Amino acid sequence: MFQTNVNIEQLWDIANIIFPYPSIKKTQKSMILSLLSSQKPILISTETGVGKTAALLTALLTIKKSEEKIIIFVRTKAQINVYLRELSKIFQKIMNNWNLLEDHFENFPIMMPMLGKNELCLKARKDYPGELYTHICRLTKCPLKAKTQRIGKKQLIQTISKLIRSFPQILSADDLYSCFNKEEYCPYFLSYLLMQKADIIIATYPFLENSTLNTRLLYSVSVPLHKTLIAIDEAHNLYRPLNQEIQSNILERAVNEYPNGIYSDLFKKLEQKQIFEVNYSEDLLQVLGEDLLKHLQFQIRNEKLPAIHAYLCYHFILSAKEKKVISDGKKLSIINIMPSDMLKKVHYAQRLTFMSGSFEPIKSYLRLFQIPACKTLRVFPQKEEAKSKYLVLCNQLYNAKYENRDEKYFSSVAKGISELFRSIPGHTLVFTPSYAYINELIETGMFKPDIVETKGQDITTLQTILTNVESKKLILCVTGGKIAEGIEFTYQGRSLIKGVIATALPFPPPSEESNLIYNELSDQFGEKLAREFSIVIPTIQRLSQSFGRAIRNKGDAAVHILLDPRGTRFSREFHFERHQSIERMIQAIEKFFEEKNIDTYA
Ligand code: SF4
Repeated sequence: MFQTNVNIEQLWDIANIIFPYPSIKKTQKSMILSLLSSQKPILISTETGVGKTAALLTALLTIKKSEEKIIIFVRTKAQINVYLRELSKIFQKIMNNWNLLEDHFENFPIMMPMLGKNELCLKARKDYPGELYTHICRLTKCPLKAKTQRIGKKQLIQTISKLIRSFPQILSADDLYSCFNKEEYCPYFLSYLLMQKADIIIATYPFLENSTLNTRLLYSVSVPLHKTLIAIDEAHNLYRPLNQEIQSNILERAVNEYPNGIYSDLFKKLEQKQIFEVNYSEDLLQVLGEDLLKHLQFQIRNEKLPAIHAYLCYHFILSAKEKKVISDGKKLSIINIMPSDMLKKVHYAQRLTFMSGSFEPIKSYLRLFQIPACKTLRVFPQKEEAKSKYLVLCNQLYNAKYENRDEKYFSSVAKGISELFRSIPGHTLVFTPSYAYINELIETGMFKPDIVETKGQDITTLQTILTNVESKKLILCVTGGKIAEGIEFTYQGRSLIKGVIATALPFPPPSEESNLIYNELSDQFGEKLAREFSIVIPTIQRLSQSFGRAIRNKGDAAVHILLDPRGTRFSREFHFERHQSIERMIQAIEKFFEEKNIDTYA
């Protein structure tokens, strides 16, 4: 143990001062105490409503010594804003209690987001793809990079002081952009220099996953890795077996835009379904890079449409260098089944915290990440705090396996859905395996959905309908369709969906691609883990994605129902309450909404 109990009590006192809300939930306390009491890397599995962001920031700021820095990696720019929101509340707490915290912090902490070049570049254009920003300075022969990197120490301090005087200690992207734009420095390269002064940096995944960006970031924070506290949010995303792809039409256009032997070779390989290694010689790649960039420079200087597709292919080839690539005949995708390789560069951080709401089964992620001496922690809301109820039907009549899907099965499911819908006081989404399945359900004539998802569904119209109608609606959708993939149905910050019913366990559809990945995983980790990552985890994620449509913000409450009894094997992941009949389920649903005092629609 690196800290004594007395020490933990002192740290806990500090955490209580920093924590940005009037009271700390039990779940947050457990997370904070875990982080305060052990120095080991940790994988934390949480659920919506736990309050993980506030707990993580509080713990890290409590542990952090004045000479150390905190870096948090998040998946999207929107998540940066979630962290900045919590940080501004923490910032107020620190300000109001500075007399108690001055000894702990020594200097008032500065917090900043690290945004990508496409966000901060002054030459940014809407029609440029994100990849083009890798070489944007060279392509546009922009003088600001050199000018910014030559900035003297005195001038830098003056610039930072001005920035801090004009804006609060939490610097947003807009602050950086508006301040430096006027200063005639490049906001992107200046933000690297600013990192020397920042205490907490929030960066997106490319700064972790891309070696060049990661090296530059770790270098710019100007403290060694063992003085850096690193946290990675939504870390299940580190496992993306196919994480970059290029479509055949882009490759085809690249061959026309910029004829080159490498592109033609790649196009030939794409046409045959296969796995191959990208191993073009350094010399060939160098010649392609030099010539192509000169060609693009000329086009940009003369305001001609640049050969974007040729550039995208070149970018793909650089990312795929010495990696395995899979072709399905329509696209090439880079295979990345070993997040552990990428994580090696942060192993020796002072603290390493991984968090996710989709980290189950957590032991499998532990094996996949291969972090030495890593601990795990599972934090779920207390029963009384839970705003979601998960229920699974254990009746074999509803078993959705293919052989079981006869007339009797569809009639039972249709009847079950309409009975359940009556007990749910709001709009309800019903997720089904396919459009053909939807037709079978409707053909039973036993229930009438209000809205049925179609292949070209106009989501905006659907959102408008659900916001304006005065009676609750039953919407039939397809797992993996547009509605399942992140559409929000909210009004004034509250979810309009009170119920989600999944009729079948959403196994990922079998494909040649998934078989190949299974084989690769099996070779590396054995069959059990290969099965988990190619079948079990994708199923859990698809089900979570469907269920996740109902709970979008704090204060939302909903029921999540799985009719397929095969789902009982996921009771641990979803905390399913098991029911033998629809009638019993209805009683539990009515009780839940009564306790939550929810009666949206008559
Ligand atoms: S130096 Fe900055 S502003 Fe200029 S092209 Fe590069 S990123 Fe854009």
